Amino acid sequence: MAAIEAGRLLPIYILDDENADAHRIGGASRWWLHHSLIALNKSLSGKLRIFRGDAVQILQKLVQETGAKTVTWNRCYEPWRILRDKKILAGLKESGVEVISRNGSLLWEPWEALKPDGTPYRVFTPFYRKGCLNSKEPHKPIKAPEKIKFATFDMLKDAHSISDLDLQPTNWEIKSEPDWAPGERHAQDKLNHFLDNGINGYNQGRNFPASENSSYLSPHLRFGEISPHQIWHALAFREHMIENEEDADQFRMEVAWREFSYNLLCHIPDLPDKNLQPKFDAFSWRKDTAALKAWQRGQTGIPIVDAGMRELWQTGFMHNRVRMVAASFLVKNLMIDWREGARWFWDCLVDADLANNSASWQWVAGCGADAAPYFRIFNPTTQGLRFDSKGEYTRKYVPELACLPDKWLFNPWDAPQEILSVAGITLGKTYPEPLVDLKMSRQRALNAYSDMKTRQSS
Ligand SMILES: Cc1cc2nc3c(=O)[nH]c(=O)nc-3n(C[C@H](O)[C@H](O)[C@H](O)COP(=O)(O)OP(=O)(O)OC[C@H]3O[C@@H](n4cnc5c(N)ncnc54)[C@H](O)[C@@H]3O)c2cc1C
Repeated sequence: MAAIEAGRLLPIYILDDENADAHRIGGASRWWLHHSLIALNKSLSGKLRIFRGDAVQILQKLVQETGAKTVTWNRCYEPWRILRDKKILAGLKESGVEVISRNGSLLWEPWEALKPDGTPYRVFTPFYRKGCLNSKEPHKPIKAPEKIKFATFDMLKDAHSISDLDLQPTNWEIKSEPDWAPGERHAQDKLNHFLDNGINGYNQGRNFPASENSSYLSPHLRFGEISPHQIWHALAFREHMIENEEDADQFRMEVAWREFSYNLLCHIPDLPDKNLQPKFDAFSWRKDTAALKAWQRGQTGIPIVDAGMRELWQTGFMHNRVRMVAASFLVKNLMIDWREGARWFWDCLVDADLANNSASWQWVAGCGADAAPYFRIFNPTTQGLRFDSKGEYTRKYVPELACLPDKWLFNPWDAPQEILSVAGITLGKTYPEPLVDLKMSRQRALNAYSDMKTRQSS
């Protein structure tokens, strides 16, 4: 809106892998971005101009080429972007260009939701209750402009086409489940569909991967196709139609977890790379390339973990409950460093988000803010029985176990031989033997944790 008010608009997108460096957008997200840019260009009457490279230099050149007097953007909060945007700001100001940046992606700015002593919260509940809800109400979303006056520059020296960006992954094709459709219009459809069908029962249902209670809004949020303000206020508008208050409260709270992750990332820039709790620097992670690969490809022999990892590989998404179980299996049962898991998710998720991914992995690993304690270890068998009791989710992604009765679906290694034979399963042949014994690997993780603590206190 600020850009439109400033005069004739030249909308641009710069793919800046140079400044992003290790945090360049991963494979699945590139797939999303490709389609998202196509949708954005369409809604801008084909006027979106595309660039690739160092955004600092590109913007400087573009301002010279076009004579632009004002440059506007929505603020980003990843540490590398903050540093880069400061450089852009300094350069443009020096050239006499007005710069306007706005908040389009967070309900509360990271510097608004602070403790009374001015330091950031490390625990979610006070962050949300005191830091956010006690602060100002998130502003109402601004209506899309009815008409935009575009600047006409048909030929810009370094402009590319969207396909020049080579965003389509070559190593795998993301299937169109669960109905992925990047773009603003589809984001609104997803929100409406969720408010019509998913919000009632969300509080409990969000834990069940086969239920209809996930909004699937995360990639749309990640790519700015919908703002948290639109979600927040759409929910408020429909609140009188929601049967149980807890469902709306829980959904708001989940959206606020995203805010918490951004708050952490903004105040602790090395969140993606370093244990938030330094005591974990002494943890003895195992190096096990074969186990890591089996986990990545959903071949661990632990059905709910394999279902999640295959969902990720096939669709670019994984249900939140299963993300927690699969991540816990990696960092605890396999004792592989959480950063390995975060890297794989980064490449495979269409919603890969530096704040959410880093904060969530640290949370699961027990080394993050408000983390699940390391010694609380998910049991994938009981998680499966509890949250996928009819096996709909697990059978969908692990079809080789489809004929196994529910009772054995999550621990086929315990099933009697005749049951396996009737179901057409030969462990080690048609489906892997479990990579580790769940009980022993749990104990191994607990011992490593206690060794780490002993080493620290001695
Ligand atoms: C190991 C691990 C890695 C994760 N990596 C990412 C990631 O890269 N990107 C990402 O967006 N989320 C990540 N999450 C959080 C969560 O799994 C997803 O946000 C959620 O599954 C998205 O599905 P949804 O939109 O249907 O969620 P809904 O349940 O419908 O929630 C609505 C929105 O709230 C936010 N939200 C929900 N749960 C969380 C949460 N636990 N933490 C932060 N925000 C949340 C998301 O923006 C989500 O779109 C990760 C979780 C784990 C355990």
